[in-house]
Amino acid sequence: MERGEGIQVVKLGEREGAARYELDEGALRRVLLREDVRGLPVVVVSVAGAYRGGKSFILNFFLRYLNASRKSQLDGTWLGEEDEPLKGFHWRGGCERETTGIHLWSEPIITTTENGKKVAVLLMDTQGTFDSETTIGQNSTIFAFSTLISSVQIYNLYGNIKEDDLQHLQLFAEYGSLASETQGKTFQTLLFLIRDWTYPFEHPYGFTGGSALLCKKLQLNRNVNPELRHVREHLTSCFEDIKCFLMPHPGLTVEHPNFDGRISGLTENFRSALLNLVPSLFDPKHLTPKKINGVLVSTQDLFEYFQKYVNIFNSDEVPQVTSICQATADACLLAATREARELYSQHMEAHVRDNFSVSNATLTAWHEEARDQALRCFTKKKNLIPFGNKTQDATPRFFQEELDALLSLYLWNNDKKVRDTMSLAAQAYEAAVSR
Ligand code: GDP
Ligand code: MG
Repeated sequence: MERGEGIQVVKLGEREGAARYELDEGALRRVLLREDVRGLPVVVVSVAGAYRGGKSFILNFFLRYLNASRKSQLDGTWLGEEDEPLKGFHWRGGCERETTGIHLWSEPIITTTENGKKVAVLLMDTQGTFDSETTIGQNSTIFAFSTLISSVQIYNLYGNIKEDDLQHLQLFAEYGSLASETQGKTFQTLLFLIRDWTYPFEHPYGFTGGSALLCKKLQLNRNVNPELRHVREHLTSCFEDIKCFLMPHPGLTVEHPNFDGRISGLTENFRSALLNLVPSLFDPKHLTPKKINGVLVSTQDLFEYFQKYVNIFNSDEVPQVTSICQATADACLLAATREARELYSQHMEAHVRDNFSVSNATLTAWHEEARDQALRCFTKKKNLIPFGNKTQDATPRFFQEELDALLSLYLWNNDKKVRDTMSLAAQAYEAAVSR
C-alpha cells in the first residue's frame, strides 16, 4: 500500500470578493524540508484541470508506479492486482466540491535519474474548479501557480482541447516570450492529457494521436482569435517540451458508486494507455527535474518559490508578468545566498572539526578563503538571474558583511575550546591535590 497522504499546501479562499491564496507553511515544511530529501533536485509533476476530471485517480497510478520495484516497473505488474482498491490521493469527490487549491503527496519519492543522480519526485494535485461558481480569473491563477511550480504540468482535459483551455496558457506565453530573450526556455514539460477521447479512428490513442491533434490545435489560421494567436505563437518558446496524450474512456464501471478503482473494472484500452503513459513520465530516462533559469531547483529552493509566488498571486487577479519575473528573481537570489552560505559553513566546519584550536591568524585566513569561495559561488549564481537588477547591488555587500560577522563567532568558539580545556585541567589538578 502507498505510504503517505495528500496534504493541502495551498488553499484558495476569498476575501472581499477577490481570490486569496493561503500557503500552509507548516504542511509544506513537512514535505519539503525533511532530512531525507535535503538538497535534492526536485521533479514536480502536477495534474491540473477541472473538478471530477479523474486527476486524483490517475495520480494514484503514478504513485503505484513510483512505489513499485524496478522489476515490476519494467514488466508492467506495477499496475497492481486485479482486485486491489486504488488508494492515495482522495478521489471520487462525490457531488460536494472539494477544496480548491494544491495538494502534495506527503512522501516525496526518492529515485535516481538515468545518470545515477538522486532526485525527489513530488506529486501535486491541482484542483481548479472550472465550473460556473468560479471566475476564469480564479481558474487561471491556480493553474498558473501550479505551472510555475511544476516541472511537468499535466493539463487534464475532458474530450478535446478547446479554445477556452488555451486561454489559461496566456500568461505563460507572455512570460515565456519575455524570459526567453535572455535565457533558454523557461518551463520544462506541458502535457495535454485528453480524457475520454472518442475519435481514435481520426487520431489514435496515446502520444502519436496526441501529437497530431496538438499540431492541428496550435496551427495558426485566419479564423483564430487574435489573443489566442499570441498563445499559439509563443507557447512553444516557453516550454522545452509540449506533448499531448489521448486517453480512452476507462469503461462504464467507473461510474458505479461503489467502484473502488480496481483495475479489473478498467477497459483493456485504458490499462494499456496507463502502461504507456506512466513510464513515459517517470522512467529514469524521462524524469524531468525542475529548473529555473537553467539551474536545478532543490527542495529548499522550492519552498521559497512557493512563498514568493503565493504573494504575487494575492496582489492581483491574474498577476502581471513583471511581478512574476521579480518574484522569480527574488527567490533565485535567496537560493543563491543559501547555497553560498552553506558552502562557507562546510569549509569552515571541516577545518574546525579537524583541528583542536588554532591561532587567530590561521582561523582568519581560513575564514577569508571560505568567504571568497562563497562570494564567488554567489556571484556566479546571481549572474544567471534574469530581471534581477533591482536587487542586484545591495546584496553582495550585505552578504559579505553577514559572512564576516561569522568570523567573530568562530574566533570565540576557538577561544572557548582553549578555555574549556584549561578549566578541565584545573579541575583535574584540584581533584588530584585534594586526594
Ligand atoms: P478529480 O476531481 O479530477 O480529482 O477526479 P477524481 O479522480 O476524483 O475522479 C472523479 C471520477 O471520475 C471518479 O468517479 C472516477 O472513477 C472517474 N474517472 C477517473 N478517470 C476517468 C476517466 O478517464 N474518464 C471518466 N469518464 N471518468 C474517470
Ligand atoms: Mg481530486
